Amino acid sequence: MKAQSTKNIRIGISLSFVFIAVSYLIFRTNLPKIPTIFLYNLIIIISLQSLGFNRALFFLGSSVLLTILASVAINLRYIWNVPVFFITFLIVNDRIKRLDYYRHIIEARIEEVKENTNVLRDGYARHRKESLSLEKKEGKYRLLNDVASLLSSTLSLDRVTECILENALRVVGKTESALLFLVDTRRQELNLVTSRMDSNIERVKAKKGDILDEWVFKQRQCLLIEDIKKDFRFSEEKVIKHQRSFRSVVSSPLVEEKKVVGIVRLEHSRPRNYTSEDLRLLDILCDLGVVALENARLYKQTLDLAITDGLTGLYLRRYFMDRLREELSRSLRNELKCAFLMIDIDNFKEYNDRYGHTAGDIVLRTLSNVLRRFAENGVLCRYGGEEFSMLLPETSKRKAGDIAEEIRRAVEKETIELRRLRTNISVSIGVAVFPEDARVQDELILKADERLYIAKRHGRNRVVA
Ligand code: GH3
Ligand code: MG
Ligand code: MG
Repeated sequence: MKAQSTKNIRIGISLSFVFIAVSYLIFRTNLPKIPTIFLYNLIIIISLQSLGFNRALFFLGSSVLLTILASVAINLRYIWNVPVFFITFLIVNDRIKRLDYYRHIIEARIEEVKENTNVLRDGYARHRKESLSLEKKEGKYRLLNDVASLLSSTLSLDRVTECILENALRVVGKTESALLFLVDTRRQELNLVTSRMDSNIERVKAKKGDILDEWVFKQRQCLLIEDIKKDFRFSEEKVIKHQRSFRSVVSSPLVEEKKVVGIVRLEHSRPRNYTSEDLRLLDILCDLGVVALENARLYKQTLDLAITDGLTGLYLRRYFMDRLREELSRSLRNELKCAFLMIDIDNFKEYNDRYGHTAGDIVLRTLSNVLRRFAENGVLCRYGGEEFSMLLPETSKRKAGDIAEEIRRAVEKETIELRRLRTNISVSIGVAVFPEDARVQDELILKADERLYIAKRHGRNRVVA
């Protein structure tokens, strides 16, 4: 606006100079008067157009006055210019009005277009933001789809829990510590199974869940805490007693057939870090995770069934042989001793014949429990029928002999109650030690077996090492 008025002033000053110059040319020189008067008219038209009607009126009035004066001075020869000026004035006036009218219309249109452009620009920005957030959301759901196929292809329980936590971090993100608890069904306790921490966060010291986890466990519901300092449901002092300072939390239960089997919990020291959308994603992930968790559990159970004996719960011979092979090669590598015990019930056929097969089964179970007490650091198996074997890593012959003797005495003392009867059994044990008695697996078993039979031949209920 300011630039426009300075421009007008500049045009006005230039035209004033031209006006004075032309007036001088008309009245003071011998130049042909008619073309000069037309030039003079032209200047007035230009001034009317560029300066606007009011300012140019001054030039128009001066022109008329000058023309009348000139005409009077030079025998009214140029008086015709007066009507010409008036006609010019009317035409130009009309043009200016029209131009003004059109200018207003154009200006209004420009304003309208500007407004529309702004509305469109705002709309575009809003849509772009929405589309970006949708894209982000779509990405997260696609990730959940990948997680589903990844989880369904994983059968190891440890791997499944790791996978659930890693993907909770990928899907929700923006987390300083992530924890996964599994429920110990016997004790009804939440045990920390796996966790992920930012490097600047102190490691989780507590291995059990806190009151937030208990809330999720009992309510079987997801939990979103925007700011623990302002949450009326939980007292801050009770929650933060494990040194980990967090302000916001999202937590979702792993629910399997209406039973909570675990909890996934994400934390951040910044308040209002999580939204309900984050909680939704975590909830979906937990739904996927719990299926994989159950599959892995069933798989483990099937595996356990395949390698353990149904009657005693001890390992079967095939699995034991693999473990024995591993243990022997470890002993060889680390130059360690490893003891092998072959244990056989004495006169078991007779016992079966006298008390029945069911009573014999009770004996086998009772003996397994006694043997378990001595195999805490070793591997125990039902080798076949009424024969058991025990592997004791890092055990010398003397120590193995002592343990075997303790076993023998413990079995001898154990009473097996059959309705009104109290019965006893005994075992014979052959002991062989790697590598002093044998350098290969088969030889080690053979040696223990030979010693077992020596024990049998020498009257049973004894240890031969
Ligand atoms: P020895 O002192 O020489 O070892 O005599 P034994 O009678 O214990 O040995 P034998 O090999 O003659 O008999 C083993 C018996 O173990 C025969 C079988 O009836 C019994 N037995 C094997 N497996 C089972 C089982 O699963 N349950 C029961 N009740 N008995 C079993
Ligand atoms: Mg026997
Ligand atoms: Mg036998």
